[in-house]
Amino acid sequence: MRHLLDTRTLDRADALRILDVAEDMAGTQRREVKKLPTLRGKTVVNLFFEDSTRTRISFEAAAKRLSADVINFSAKGSSVSKGESLQDTAQTLQAMAADAVVIRHGASGAPRTLATSGWISAGVLNAGDGTHEHPTQALLDAYTIRKRRFGDASRGRDLSGVRVTIVGDILHSRVARSNVWLLHTLGAKVALVAPPTLVPQDVSGWPVQVGYDLDEAVADGPDALMMLRIQAERMNAAYFPTEREYSRHWGLTPERFAALPESTMVMHPGPMNRGLEICAQAADSPRSTVLDQVTNGVSVRMAALYLLLAGERPAPADDPATNDATTPNQKEDAR
Ligand code: ASP
Repeated sequence: MRHLLDTRTLDRADALRILDVAEDMAGTQRREVKKLPTLRGKTVVNLFFEDSTRTRISFEAAAKRLSADVINFSAKGSSVSKGESLQDTAQTLQAMAADAVVIRHGASGAPRTLATSGWISAGVLNAGDGTHEHPTQALLDAYTIRKRRFGDASRGRDLSGVRVTIVGDILHSRVARSNVWLLHTLGAKVALVAPPTLVPQDVSGWPVQVGYDLDEAVADGPDALMMLRIQAERMNAAYFPTEREYSRHWGLTPERFAALPESTMVMHPGPMNRGLEICAQAADSPRSTVLDQVTNGVSVRMAALYLLLAGERPAPADDPATNDATTPNQKEDAR
């Protein structure tokens, strides 16, 4: 894998490979010494043009646990706010010999531009671009669903037959888009539920069922109910009358949560608007996967960085997929 730009073009084999390597990475994260020497000497740049908390620190933790050097570059307070172009920023990173660039950008397509422009030779990981895609979020969501559903028997499995319903602000959500493509590739059945104003105009080419009634979707008892954040910062018009109205019709309220089958897991990519799209009872219940998603995010991002930077055929000693990294040397290295 050279770059990770989207899930729309990610094939099943590569997706399963990332999820399976993430299983190995998760195994290493349960040890006392969490750090692996795998990416020692590599430099990962976190290039964030949009605010982020969990994604940035998750990529940072993932890179550091693989012993890479991490440079955090946030657009605020940098020369980007003085008008420097993406090209100039990229060329600066190239001159600093970055091996991987993790980019979050407000413009859909910016990561692809970076990857295909010839400005840099680094591998590019999309950490969210506009309303387009957020591939590592979808991968960590798929990982979380697979783990909850199949437990220790997860490895090598896809999500055939698993029913996932994604609810809310689909229009502005790169999380929804990345999930639609990835979950479909992995064999899941995906349904979208949203107010008509928050469904993208042309979803006819998407492999999903679209509905507008959350009570019906709840009664249908999907395996996973994924609530999305209302992305107020991307809204330039009134898409629903009031927050109260939104919550009444499209929120996971205590009543709807009570009506949901025990077996349905409740997901949210964060940050949550408690009381708007999700009630506290649901967010904090054992059926919520919210914190698992955060934990799994580190393992999935470790897997993505590893597959991008350690190459297709890493030396056996560096390969966590074939080596549990507990050899004395590596243990020593890891301290
Ligand atoms: N954190 C996710 C994203 O960056 C979801 C959200 O912001 O609502 O897209």
